[in-house]
Amino acid sequence: MPFTLMFLLMIAFVAAVIYFSKAAALQPEQQVDADVFRVKESYLKIIAQKDEQAAEKGRLQEASDRIFNLYDLMRELTRAADVPEAFRIFKDHVHRQLVLDDCHLVEHSPKDISDFPSFKGYKFFSLKAKKMVLGELAYKGLQEDEEAFVILAAQFALALRRIRLYKELEDMAITDGLTHLHTRRYLTERFQEEFGRARLKGLALSLLMIDVDLFKHVNDQYGHLAGDQVLREVGRFISQHTREIDITGRYGGEEFCIILPDTDKAGALVVAERIRAAVQSGRIKAYDTEIAVTVSIGVATFMEDAHQMEELLDKADWALYRAKKTGRNRVVGFSVYLT
Ligand code: GH3
Ligand code: MG
Ligand code: MG
Repeated sequence: MPFTLMFLLMIAFVAAVIYFSKAAALQPEQQVDADVFRVKESYLKIIAQKDEQAAEKGRLQEASDRIFNLYDLMRELTRAADVPEAFRIFKDHVHRQLVLDDCHLVEHSPKDISDFPSFKGYKFFSLKAKKMVLGELAYKGLQEDEEAFVILAAQFALALRRIRLYKELEDMAITDGLTHLHTRRYLTERFQEEFGRARLKGLALSLLMIDVDLFKHVNDQYGHLAGDQVLREVGRFISQHTREIDITGRYGGEEFCIILPDTDKAGALVVAERIRAAVQSGRIKAYDTEIAVTVSIGVATFMEDAHQMEELLDKADWALYRAKKTGRNRVVGFSVYLT
């Protein structure tokens, strides 16, 4: 019995030794597995972070490209002098950055898209600046998100507004607000140009100085507003009886001036007489009254009356003075025999 017990104890001892030594042998192996697992996890995390960073870098690169492209577009648009040029620049940029089949500028806002059958299937983008609609972009086949297109279009709208304002300012500087004829400044510039051209090519050039007769009485009798209406109508008679190439302007107050390129004295006298007769026979309606006015016109011609610009102006003025002196409602051509 004690032997059996001893034998069993020995077996138990040997089994325990085997178990513990096996467990001791397995422990480092499990540790290594756990370590490998941890390293693998860290590695995967790093890879994921790297991918995320690469994606972020791509996004930043895209955003910075967009900003640079936008800056380029703005810079190019500020140099554009007219609407077609600005639109060409805008379209170039759109095609470089986005996939788009077609894009047109409709300068005036369409009330109804059906007014534009040629734009069937197109989308419209209103070009607005300070709540004012400046026009519409008709486009189709845009394959990206609309945001980038809208940002570019907004820049184009700003350029459109700048160009329009500049044009209005320019028009204001060369157009008389009351009569819509040219201003004295513009007349003077054009007179220099036309005089230079006439001299270079040896062509005739005539100058008409027109003054409304006894205009002070019109103002006194009917008031300044009616007087303004008379000036507007005289301006209209002048426009109606001159050619496209003639340069008509308000010289100041109730005085008008016309430059007739390539026109000799005889031709200029005919034009002047036509204007004088039209004003005399025209009935000017000012509010609830009809006002009759006449004009006196002085005519001088390059080269027969003067060789210099100033001289030509003086001679036309002198002829006008003679027309006034000799009874008004008259056309007088300068002549050396005038005294
Ligand atoms: P004349 O036949 O000698 O030319 O006589 P006139 O009365 O026309 O000549 P004057 O030069 O003495 O008077 C011109 C008047 O024109 C004086 C001025 O008040 C008036 N006038 C000038 N500019 C305007 C304007 O823009 N509107 C109005 N209503 N009157 C003006
Ligand atoms: Mg006058
Ligand atoms: Mg007058």
